Amino acid sequence: MNAEESKRLLRELQGSSNCSHPIRLRGELVNTATGEVSQRSLRVACKDRREVLCPACSFLYRADAWILVSTGLVGGKGIPLDVGTHPRLFVTLTAPSFGVVHSIRDNGDCVPRSRSSKRSCVHGGRTSCLRRHDEDDVDLGTPLCEKCFDYRSAVLWNAHASRLWNNTIQVIRRLLAEAGGIGQPHLGSVAQLNYLKVAEVQRRGLVHLHCVLRLDGPELVDAEPPSWATTELLARVVRASIERAWAPDLNGSPVRWGRIYDIQDLATREETALKVTAYVAKYASKTTDGSKELARRFRSRRQIRTLIDNPHFRRLALTAWDLGGEEKYEIFRLREHAHTFGFTGQLITKSRAFSTTFAALRSARSDYMAGEREGDPVEGTFHFEGRGYDDPRASQLAELFFTMQRELRQEARARDRARTDHEVEEAEETN
Ligand SMILES: [Zn+2]
Ligand SMILES: [Zn+2]
Ligand SMILES: [Zn+2]
Repeated sequence: MNAEESKRLLRELQGSSNCSHPIRLRGELVNTATGEVSQRSLRVACKDRREVLCPACSFLYRADAWILVSTGLVGGKGIPLDVGTHPRLFVTLTAPSFGVVHSIRDNGDCVPRSRSSKRSCVHGGRTSCLRRHDEDDVDLGTPLCEKCFDYRSAVLWNAHASRLWNNTIQVIRRLLAEAGGIGQPHLGSVAQLNYLKVAEVQRRGLVHLHCVLRLDGPELVDAEPPSWATTELLARVVRASIERAWAPDLNGSPVRWGRIYDIQDLATREETALKVTAYVAKYASKTTDGSKELARRFRSRRQIRTLIDNPHFRRLALTAWDLGGEEKYEIFRLREHAHTFGFTGQLITKSRAFSTTFAALRSARSDYMAGEREGDPVEGTFHFEGRGYDDPRASQLAELFFTMQRELRQEARARDRARTDHEVEEAEETN
């Protein structure tokens, strides 16, 4: 590569913020000061949230997710600071069991001993596991007997999870209104339930949901919820709603949450709120299992068979693919969601008033970047031309630059911290 080529490549990388696979746009630019028209090709960052696909864009996405959650918990970015005093819960919802899987229970055991009375299942498979698994054991989440595991129901449960969530929110609102002695249509005039939820696929291949629920007054700016709407009441209502809520499957039978769920009061421990924020941000940039193979839609059954090594995941994806071919399941678009084992919903969703939006954060960032640019203002219209860089080495280089910049940032932060500690020590000495 000659010096001129190197310079052009570096400019390109910088222009697309070290994105691994930027989007190429082509269009006409008009200099609004001079009226001059020019043709230009432009690369913009892909904005993919998934770290395995684009480290640089997912870093920004994670940062935005962090702000989204933390402003919902303690205010800021247009959300009043008093939300930090409202009832706030962190709720985890899980799927029911579709077969015994290797796991780590609270006492460190895998399968509860009471369940292992029979030595083998009808297929001659195991019913017990006396091992104590490590966190990174590849067997975790896989069934003791593959034939006993109900893959079909597991995939269909994932397909119903979003509907079940929506119904649960409605039940919570209904029960809240009842508790306040008002009809549900009037709940909004005294209190609002706001939420943010993030979906995560567990190792057993089932979706579970983490959500932050917050109770506000009728108008967010009018902060305080009514005095009867306490954290204890909200927790009680949420518990009842989780047990009561259901969504009908295609036969009208109820699809429900699993028996295991968790409700934590975010006001009692500040570190829980911090942990929740970091947790949501981390999961926001993950794919189904953290791999590239489950990051994108599959194009064929064969692709699933050849790409997925984990036999449990392979079977879940194949089940979704096969069910997707049945006319009756068409509405779930299961082939398009075979890589998420049938889960069709959005990864992060929130009620409108919970906090700021990804769009608002992005537009604030691009306004800031525009302010940094020099020269006359330009306007233009662009259309999609393709993906990636012209130079095949550029993607790797982009990732390298991103890693270097991240390390430099980390070093600078560590230096800042050391300096602050040093100043505190000096101040203490002089006192
Ligand atoms: Zn990107
Ligand atoms: Zn086990
Ligand atoms: Zn079996």
